[in-house]
Amino acid sequence: MKKTIWFCLLVLGLAACADSASKQDAQTSDMDRSFAVYSEHFIEEMWKLFPEWATQMGYHKHNDTLMIPDSVYRSTVLHFAAQHLDSLKLYDEKKLSPSLRIDHRLIQNHLEYLRWKISEKKDYAWDAVPYNLPLLIGYMLHEDYAPLPERLSQIKNRLKLFKEYYDAAKNNLREVVPELAIMAAEQHKGGLVLLRQNLSDSIQAATISEEEKSEIHILSKQAEDAVASFIAFLEQEIPLNKRSFRLGKDLYEKQFEYEIQSEKTAKTLYHQALKRKAYLHDQMHDLTLKLWPKYFGEQAPPDDRLVAIRVMIDTLSVNHSRPEDFQKDIEEQLPELTKFVNEKNLLYLDPTKPLVVRREPAYQAGLAGASINAPGPYDSMGNTYYNVGSLQGWSSERASSYLREYNDYVLQILNIHEAIPGHYTQLVYANKSRSLIKSILANGAMIEGWAVYTEQMMLENGYGDNEPEMWLMWYKWNLRTVCNTILDYSVHVQEMNREEALELLIHQAFQQTAEAEGKWRRVNVSSVQLTSYFAGYLEIMALRDELQKKQAEDFDLKEFHESFLSFGNAPVKYIRQMMLNEATR
Ligand code: ZN
Repeated sequence: MKKTIWFCLLVLGLAACADSASKQDAQTSDMDRSFAVYSEHFIEEMWKLFPEWATQMGYHKHNDTLMIPDSVYRSTVLHFAAQHLDSLKLYDEKKLSPSLRIDHRLIQNHLEYLRWKISEKKDYAWDAVPYNLPLLIGYMLHEDYAPLPERLSQIKNRLKLFKEYYDAAKNNLREVVPELAIMAAEQHKGGLVLLRQNLSDSIQAATISEEEKSEIHILSKQAEDAVASFIAFLEQEIPLNKRSFRLGKDLYEKQFEYEIQSEKTAKTLYHQALKRKAYLHDQMHDLTLKLWPKYFGEQAPPDDRLVAIRVMIDTLSVNHSRPEDFQKDIEEQLPELTKFVNEKNLLYLDPTKPLVVRREPAYQAGLAGASINAPGPYDSMGNTYYNVGSLQGWSSERASSYLREYNDYVLQILNIHEAIPGHYTQLVYANKSRSLIKSILANGAMIEGWAVYTEQMMLENGYGDNEPEMWLMWYKWNLRTVCNTILDYSVHVQEMNREEALELLIHQAFQQTAEAEGKWRRVNVSSVQLTSYFAGYLEIMALRDELQKKQAEDFDLKEFHESFLSFGNAPVKYIRQMMLNEATR
């Protein structure tokens, strides 16, 4: 369907400048072909240097090996980056077709990011979290990409390298950030359980020889020792408090540039978030006053605006699923969303790619209430799962707090965000574009921004019958992404402390204490990622406005969505350039 539209545009473009076009077109396709060959080669080379990452992306050629993260390795990576930055220059961006032009920029950005991480950010010396081999072993045990004996043989070869790997890690970590080390230590304690129980059980269950079983057992014991010694090292470093978890202004801006790939700076985005927060508070207060008599009759609303909003939100939040119906309620909403998108003609939904709702796998239990499990770039035909938590084994207090948070209104917004037409729909389109580069070097801000954008877009088009309750709850949800940005920048650049952070999240963003505390922990161990939601959302909204102005009555929402998604997981600023080019043709 999309292909036909592209074809038409191409034909129109050619007709307009028929003389030079055919020559240029031939050049373009030559350049395209050789660049496509190059980028395939680039990926193959990259996986050789990053075999752990390759495994988790579903590329299994290097599953027998690990890279020892020492200074020799870092020099090799720097060399790799320099070499490929040079190679990229051989392909004139301007002569590439739009999709490959974006790939070119993504590779360049990724290589510059790698170089910057090693030579400027130097997180290998202070962030203990990425050194996590049990996580990798867990992935190889749980993902059924090959028969168990084959996976165990690969695991065996990796277990052999545990000691050398963790010795290098300990040697690197000269300036341990305590918050990151605490998290790494906790994860490795879980990792020990995985090695002792899950791996041991799998060895028992596998149809392999007794010799091989005992060989893997011995190696697993040695790996456990390496992990235990890494935990001991971290626990000894934590109290020394050598470095703050706050990134600081310079590193933060640079990381924002590489990760978000936005047209604006982190600082500009932060100021836009502050503005948006004030706007949302105004809107929420107006709606609260409008709804007040319906729920409270003659009783006067509190004078404090934020208190009044909070009371209204708490009142509406009591409408929620029963724990035992949570999964069924989610499942029942999906066909409704599909129907709405089709009836309103918002974008084409491929009916041959159904979303499978399932109870979350045991090894992910208790992590999140709902999440999308997408097939990797090497498995684009695989199923997409919508994992839903069962809330089983939760205390009734925890379950009811969770269900109040994901009340009847918010649950619908969550389904829009995660599934239709949010993450799941975007993914189906991205898989159609079949760009390995865009799948591997995917832009998180575009992906999260799209999901946030669709929430608003659905409501604008009448989803939820324009009920003020629905809008109020969506504003609260949107405020969360806005406050994620404010929090992240304030903490990493402006030294915001825990107390101030909780004040922001609980009083100004109406979150439950447990949620706010969880967010504080998250901002201690991550940076920039929390801004991706708002960054992408703002840019998509701005692009839509821009095109709407430009195309006036010719603007078509469905066309906008389909064209936007056809570029795959690319940064919004590049999609914008391509779409504006199309629009002016
Ligand atoms: Zn999301």
